[in-house]
Formats: sequence, structure tokens, C-alpha cells
Amino acid sequence: MKQLAVISGKGGSGKTTLTAAFASLAKNAVLADCDVDAADMPLILKPELLGGEDYFGLPFASINPELCTKCGRCRDLCRYGAISENFVINTYSCEGCAVCTVACPENAISLETRFSGQVVSSKTRFGPMAAGALGIGEDASGKLVALVRKRAQELAEANSRDPVIIDGPPGAGCPVIAAIAGTDLVLLVCEPTVSGIHDLKRVIELTAHFRIPAVVCINKCDINEENCLKIEEFCTESGIPVIGRLPYDDIATKAMLREETVIEYAVREESSKAREFADSIRKIWGQLESRLFEVPVKDRGKNP
Ligand code: SF4
Ligand code: SF4
Repeated sequence: MKQLAVISGKGGSGKTTLTAAFASLAKNAVLADCDVDAADMPLILKPELLGGEDYFGLPFASINPELCTKCGRCRDLCRYGAISENFVINTYSCEGCAVCTVACPENAISLETRFSGQVVSSKTRFGPMAAGALGIGEDASGKLVALVRKRAQELAEANSRDPVIIDGPPGAGCPVIAAIAGTDLVLLVCEPTVSGIHDLKRVIELTAHFRIPAVVCINKCDINEENCLKIEEFCTESGIPVIGRLPYDDIATKAMLREETVIEYAVREESSKAREFADSIRKIWGQLESRLFEVPVKDRGKNP
């Protein structure tokens, strides 16, 4: 089973719009919505829930005030400053490392399970989807992303579907690493802005580090031609193919308001502008599909 991850280095660059469009073009895919802090895919795909499970993140420490003698040893040892002057644990700062539980001479500290979110499986008009929702203020989203991907792979196996298309989280941290690790191809969506170029370089470093083939799509390419050329130059130097450019357009917003992908929107709208936009995405998907299914296994780790 092949896996394609779509990431962007930052939110709002059109990553989910593209992933949803690919879902409507792929004939046999499973979707993994790994943007667990703000899953947008359900807004477009209106999934029908099949089942869900609770996700438990890092545990947190809890002090029993009846046993605590306020000796201060736990607070001195906590590297995360999670224990207050009054020996109350700040559960948002606690990393569940358990050092305090071992150090407490009164056995007054225990680790509690932390409910941190949910993973749900659903059915969409384009196939099965696994998605995660991190609880408000919760951390450890990398672990949740890994669980969403595992469920998506199970859905793919159970339904004989291929590939898994992953809508990755923004940024370049642990959740993104969890979203791209072990994938066959990563599409980097970027905007031609100074911060967009900066973010692109960070995610290119990530894919290079993990030796995952990567390709780039420049979104809103007409907002700054000079920066587009800089991106293309940088990608050429890094051996990363730029497989598409998309213009700035409000089609994505209009389509989302109608709970449609841009492909569906273009078919129903019959405007030439929308059709051209959709055709550009079709070409990008064609490139991705051929790279996903035609790259020999021996070439894994090289940029196609
Ligand atoms: S180490 Fe144990 S007894 Fe000492 S302050 Fe912490 S909880 Fe209380
Ligand atoms: S479990 Fe670790 S992080 Fe949490 S309060 Fe104890 S020492 Fe601090």
C-alpha cells in the first residue's frame, strides 16, 4: 500500500483544499486527516461516522494532599516547573515523566491517565477516512497522528484500497514527522511569500533527513513571481521537482462553503476559471499518482 502525505510548513496554504481534491480524483484511496489540532476535511467531505475510540496522551502526576508533608523534593526535581508552591500539579505543564513519583518519600504522588482526544473512522463519498481530534490544550499530537495513520492503514487493508492520502498537520515539528515517517511521497504545498519560503526550507530539510521523496506545489503563485522563481531555484538546487503552480483564487473558499471539493465545484459551476483551476489540480494529481505507483522500491529515498 502506498502512502502520500500532503504538508505545508504552515496552516492556510491550501493543503486541505488540495488533499480533498485528490480524494475526489483518486479512485480507490483512504484518507487520513492528521491535522489533529484543526481537522478541516470533514467540512468538505461530510463524513458519516463509523466508530471512534478515545485517545490517551501522556499521563499526568497527581499529589495526594493527605500524604504530602510538603518536603519540596518533587518540586526541586521537576524539570518542567509543573509543581506549584502549594504542591499542586499543573496538568498542562506536567510531561508525565514520573520522576516525582519515584522521588517522593511519602509515596504521595501517582500518575493518572489523561484523556487527550479521539480517533474516528468514517465513510465519505470518496472512501473511508480516519481522523483525529486533539482535546483543547492537549499535547502529544505526534502520538495521535501516528494512531490516525495506523487506523487509516487498517481501513485500507480491510477495504482493499490504495493509496492512503494523509492531510498532514502544519509546522515542522513532531506531529509532522509522525505524519510523513515511512510514507512513499510527500507533497509540499507552499506560498511565494518570505515566510512561505522559510517554512518550505524547513520541511524540505525534514523530508531530506528522513530520505522521503518530495515534490512541491506552489499555491497562490501569482501573488509574487519573484518569490516563485526563488522557490523554483531553491527546489532545483535541492533536487525537488516543482510539479505544479496554482493561482490565487477564491474558488477554494466558494467550494468549501458548498461543502464540495474544488473538482466538484468546477464541474457544477461551468466557469472556465474554475475549470482551469480544477484542471491544474488534475495534472498535479496525475504527477503524484504516477510517482507513487511507478517509483521502483530500489529507488526509495531518492527524489523521483
Ligand atoms: S515529594 Fe512527596 S511529600 Fe514531598 S512535597 Fe512532593 S508530594 Fe509532598
Ligand atoms: S511527572 Fe514529571 S513532569 Fe509531571 S510533575 Fe512529576 S516530575 Fe514534573
